[in-house]
Amino acid sequence: MHAEYVTGQGGTARATLNGGFPVGSSARTDDVNDNTNTAKHEHPISDRAQRWLSLECRGASDTLCAVGDAAARELGRRTGPLPLAAPAAMLAFIIASPQLTQDWLPVALLFLIMAGAAFMRMRIADQLSRARREELTELARDYQACVDLTAFSWGALIGVLLLVHGIDRLTELALVATVGLLAGAFTSLTLERTLWLRFNAALWLPLLTITGLLIWQDSDGAWLLLLVETLFAGFAVLQGQRMVRDYINGLITNIRLEDAVSKIADQRSELRAHRERLDELIARTHQLSYYDQLTGIGSRHHFHERLLTSIDNHVEDGQRFAVLYLDVDDFKAINDTFGHDAGDYLLKVVARRANALLRSSDFAARLGSDELALLVHDLSSDDDITHVVQRCRDAIQMPVRLTNRSVSPRVSIGIAVYPEDSDSAQGLLKAAESAMNAAKHGTKSHFARYFAEMSRAAEQRLTIEQELRQALEKNQFELHYQPQFDIDTGNCCGVEALVRWNHPERGLVPPLAFIPIAENSGLIDALGEWVLTTACRQAVAWFDGGLQPLTIAVNISPLQLLDPDLVATVGNTLAASGLSPQLLELEITESAIQTHADARSTLTQLRELGVRIALDDFGTGYSSLASLRELPIDRVKIDRSFVADILSSEQDSALLGTIIEMAHVLGSSVVAEGVEERAQAELLQRLRCDCVQGYYFSRPLPAAEVTRIAAAAGRPVQCLQHPRPACVTTD
Ligand code: C2E
Ligand code: MG
Ligand code: MG
Repeated sequence: MHAEYVTGQGGTARATLNGGFPVGSSARTDDVNDNTNTAKHEHPISDRAQRWLSLECRGASDTLCAVGDAAARELGRRTGPLPLAAPAAMLAFIIASPQLTQDWLPVALLFLIMAGAAFMRMRIADQLSRARREELTELARDYQACVDLTAFSWGALIGVLLLVHGIDRLTELALVATVGLLAGAFTSLTLERTLWLRFNAALWLPLLTITGLLIWQDSDGAWLLLLVETLFAGFAVLQGQRMVRDYINGLITNIRLEDAVSKIADQRSELRAHRERLDELIARTHQLSYYDQLTGIGSRHHFHERLLTSIDNHVEDGQRFAVLYLDVDDFKAINDTFGHDAGDYLLKVVARRANALLRSSDFAARLGSDELALLVHDLSSDDDITHVVQRCRDAIQMPVRLTNRSVSPRVSIGIAVYPEDSDSAQGLLKAAESAMNAAKHGTKSHFARYFAEMSRAAEQRLTIEQELRQALEKNQFELHYQPQFDIDTGNCCGVEALVRWNHPERGLVPPLAFIPIAENSGLIDALGEWVLTTACRQAVAWFDGGLQPLTIAVNISPLQLLDPDLVATVGNTLAASGLSPQLLELEITESAIQTHADARSTLTQLRELGVRIALDDFGTGYSSLASLRELPIDRVKIDRSFVADILSSEQDSALLGTIIEMAHVLGSSVVAEGVEERAQAELLQRLRCDCVQGYYFSRPLPAAEVTRIAAAAGRPVQCLQHPRPACVTTD
């Protein structure tokens, strides 16, 4: 016979308890459904929990396992010094009836067993109350053994006393009272059904047996005693069962309550975490939509809101405020030359410097890549605006260290004033932007106040874009060619093809008026291909017409370099036109190569075709000497702005000399562009420049006129020898 003790959640602890009677099967908890329990369906867990000592924990519900654990620990806690009650009562009983000790040996033996078991039980109960889950089984089994021993020794002792002394009235009452009381006390401590049944069996079995014996011996009052004992036993069973049920129900309620409390606590902390996350998200969203992540100043959206508020505030009083639209000059070149990290750093510096100038009522925001806007209040006169703008420019212009170079950032500033220039947020921003565009392209001071003409310029750009789309189909483009001359021999060594737009109404439109628009609108690839084809065909036509072979230089837009088909297009054009690749020179700007990761390999592939590469506009922006060494180039074209300064600045002419020397060392030849004066040409000759190109020698010409120039070998040298060059022609 055995009972299985439920130790805890999910674990199966089978303690074989050798009690005196069967205590149920090892069926799964959920399958238990015996007749005694059917009447208590309102407490299914309680019913099952009462059987916890006889069930396996495997498959048992979490609550049942928890009840098992809690009941075992609670049993330990509740036991306390109560086990001493039985030996103490028995001792008092024996002392009160000294005649009972006549047969002292079995009495003393049973008493000692009872007292020993009581002490053991106290000790085990103490351990049980503090035991870990895995220790509970073992301790419960020991506890049960002590209970068995106490109950049995108690029942046996009373029985022995009955047997030895028979029943007189006093002892009879005392015996019955003691047995009843102690049975109750034990029952209240042995709360588990199995334990409690075992206790009753161990207590009453010897007692009833001996009482039966007395009846058999025809002892006086034995029937009465049996009746009283049976009543007590019945009372103990009923009372005990009720107490056990109440107790288990209490435990279950407690566990559920604790469970509910801990769930509520969990949910509360989950809720708190959700709320914190939500707050965080709201703050983050606010931060993202209201502040620029790179510079930390306001975002475009934020600026727009502040602008609306300012307009609202000043609608009544009509007070003026200004919107300054700032754009970093040559920001693309900075990115290309120093890398994007340096570009980002520069933007941060510019934003910080601009922001530092503002008062608390003003506001700074980043509108786009390199564009900032400032909202400046309390302006009484135009002088105030100019003053703010100048302070702004001066502060921003302070040198910044980028990688290993010092750069002075410049910004172009457009100014629009409320309410003169516009009374709407959109209008003010648009006006300030138009002014900024005008400042960028048109003024030396790099700032401009909005005026109505500027909006018209923006509209014009749109018109040009629309017209450009049709210009290719209508064949409105033509190429002019600007000759390049060998500075020593005077031979025309090549020409640069420069595109013009023969506009039906506006006449010949220069390339800078439409190339940037073609680039922005995606038309540049088609236009570039047309230029390349036409230039190659023209070069072949010249050669076929009897001219010596001329190198033809074609400008390649940075965006064309991005075209993965560029190499194939160049190869096909050469093949179709029959031009020797060595006679084709592609002019690329340094920034185009720096910007695009694949540009170098494109250049290498182009060179593999046999085509020559020239680095155009060298000396502008942030171009560096390192490029000469690193890039796969055949020619360096010194920009005309550099050439323009060489006469006035010794430093520039010395630098140019170094560049020319360095290019030669690296195997590249040098062409100087924009030579407009004889003195420039002479100096360039002294600096050992290879070729020259410029108005002093020839403006860009239609194809037919190039024939005349190219045929006249040796002219440029003569030009250098005479005050007025014979070869200069106009566009
Ligand atoms: P670029 O490639 O640097 O061409 C030289 C520009 O300097 C030409 O201006 C030329 O007319 C001008 N120039 C030459 N000598 C002198 C001089 O002595 N003094 C002055 N003041 N200017 C001189 P253009 O034709 O207006 O072209 C401007 C720019 O437009 C070119 O600069 C080039 O970047 C671009 N461009 C021209 N044609 C094309 C083209 O077919 N494709 C592309 N992508 N860009 C082109
Ligand atoms: Mg060029
Ligand atoms: Mg150039």
